[in-house]
Amino acid sequence: MSGAPTWRRDTLDALLARFDARVAAAPAAGLPADVAQRSGGDHDYHVIFGCIIHGDEVGSLPAAVAVLEALDQGALRFGGRLSVVLGNRPAALANRRFLEADLNRVFLPDAPDSWEARRAAALIPLLDTADLFLDLHQTIEPTASAFAIFPWSPEGEHWVRALNAAPRWVTRPPGVNFSPGLRCADEHVRLRGASGVTVELGQKGFDPEAAALAERLMREALRIADRLGRGEQTLAEAAEGQPSPIAYEPDSHVAFIDPTMALRPGLQNLAPVRRGELLSAEGSPEIRSPADGALLFPKYPLRDAAGRALGPLPAELVRVVRPLPQGPAAAYAPPK
Ligand SMILES: [Zn+2]
Repeated sequence: MSGAPTWRRDTLDALLARFDARVAAAPAAGLPADVAQRSGGDHDYHVIFGCIIHGDEVGSLPAAVAVLEALDQGALRFGGRLSVVLGNRPAALANRRFLEADLNRVFLPDAPDSWEARRAAALIPLLDTADLFLDLHQTIEPTASAFAIFPWSPEGEHWVRALNAAPRWVTRPPGVNFSPGLRCADEHVRLRGASGVTVELGQKGFDPEAAALAERLMREALRIADRLGRGEQTLAEAAEGQPSPIAYEPDSHVAFIDPTMALRPGLQNLAPVRRGELLSAEGSPEIRSPADGALLFPKYPLRDAAGRALGPLPAELVRVVRPLPQGPAAAYAPPK
């Protein structure tokens, strides 16, 4: 076990300086800020890596910088087009999830004005040219393992397996929105018919394990995209013989309706839970798990001296997902 992930401003500054040097080494006209782009000239397949879409999820940055440096040093080759997007640098510098609005909810034409809505609008023309968008996130609380999180589709499952993206996959039927009325970057890409794959690398922060996983995923994505772009292999062939993650789908959630509601300490993402299991902290109204399954995205907001959660309450205090023992295709694929 490595230690808990860390956040250090000097580490972040050094990585951003290395990223900026890669952008400056090959400036491309017309690109939004904080996008590095390379073109191998062999084929048109366009891979986009998303990093720090949530500002404080910095764990993929070392990998993004390492991959760009390896390409520029000739140690790594990619024949297609690669764009590396740093989603929310101002929030990363502040070690916050976002400044004005959650960037990963505002990829919508009618999002209310905010720094992040303008950032999303600037990135959309680029995302519109993606063949594969690989978005690397980290969770707020610790996680039993890395996990992919996006709705099932045949090509989405092929990507998860071809990349061996993570031991687990929190998925849902095609077309079911995780947060109705809002839109994530990966969702925007899928809506226009390209592949959007999101992976939670682990708990947020700088973490050697997260960096290693992110770099493996980026290198694998480029290797597979090269074969697809050259017509040497289909995505289904790339997935053949690769492991399938343990899949889960949304089951239920605990609505965060009262600021005195508090989860007991130490609840982790994808920890197994039994229906009726006590989840509340001492002094909180009683909270019990609404179902058998596994916990997802437990929230521990800051609280005042009386134990009331500060700020606007998230809609859900914690979610429960249930395993799909036969896998998502068996549950969601239309009958042949
Ligand atoms: Zn995130």
